[in-house]
Amino acid sequence: MKIVVLVKYVPEPTASWSFSPDLTLNRDAVEGRLSELDEYAVEQAVRLKEGGLDAEIVYLCVGPAKATDALRKALAIGGDSAVHVTDPAIHGSCAIGTSLVLAKALEKVGYDLVLTGFSSTDGEMSVVPTMVADRLGINTATFAGELSIDGTTVTIRRDGDTATEEASTSLPALVSVTDRTPEARYPAFKAIMASKKKPIATMSLADIGVDASSVGTAGATTKVVSLAPAPAREAGTIVNDEGEGAAQLAEFLAGRGFI
Ligand SMILES: Cc1cc2nc3c(=O)[nH]c(=O)nc-3n(C[C@H](O)[C@H](O)[C@H](O)COP(=O)(O)OP(=O)(O)OC[C@H]3O[C@@H](n4cnc5c(N)ncnc54)[C@H](O)[C@@H]3O)c2cc1C
Repeated sequence: MKIVVLVKYVPEPTASWSFSPDLTLNRDAVEGRLSELDEYAVEQAVRLKEGGLDAEIVYLCVGPAKATDALRKALAIGGDSAVHVTDPAIHGSCAIGTSLVLAKALEKVGYDLVLTGFSSTDGEMSVVPTMVADRLGINTATFAGELSIDGTTVTIRRDGDTATEEASTSLPALVSVTDRTPEARYPAFKAIMASKKKPIATMSLADIGVDASSVGTAGATTKVVSLAPAPAREAGTIVNDEGEGAAQLAEFLAGRGFI
């Protein structure tokens, strides 16, 4: 069985971000890392294999040149190889463009099970997994807090606000996992060194048969029209309770429409 895990290279939240003239984030210029939420999907794939599943684990990332750092980190946690789709024309892609590139790459690489995080830690739209599955025409089970495979059946547990559901579907399928699945292990030094020898294939848009005009800024369905730094936080209000504290607190909340 081939498990392909979609892993995104995201900007470090603490890094200084720079923007291109078209107001899109300049991902080549900002320090990045493997999206923390995708580490859960990586760990799930490795656990499925460790649990006895006869599986080959491949990581797939669409991102700038430096995104190989994210693939090396995933390979240090476990798995066999990686595919990096990179092309200058991808810059500025919206979710629809990103899902097209991922789906075309998956068709090229082959898959039985596609694992993803439930959201990236930068765009945070939580739409790419379903878009990819729709393009491929395969079954989808999203927001898995637990996952198991029996033959060609994949079963997930999804924890909602009011209920816990169990859902099953048949392979080939795409499953997105949440941070209720176990955290990724910290790779040992030996595993980090071994990951450096694992193969990473690089593909361009031409390699996967995607027309450059359908992705990137040219093909994007969203456009950044303006950007500005977030306003500095205002100082809070301190209420000294000298017998009137509760009334002052109620007045504060009422003045802001909270009560
Ligand atoms: C209004 C707006 C403005 C934006 N501006 C910019 C911009 O200026 N510059 C810019 O670069 N991007 C920009 N984006 C973000 C870009 O569109 C997203 O990175 C991309 O569409 C993926 O969406 P997401 O990160 O929300 O993925 P989600 O749907 O939250 O991702 C869920 C899962 O899909 C998988 N996945 C997602 N993306 C990838 C990937 N690239 N490779 C591998 N796996 C992946 C991962 O498993 C991830 O956990 C913008 C988005 C919006 C809505």
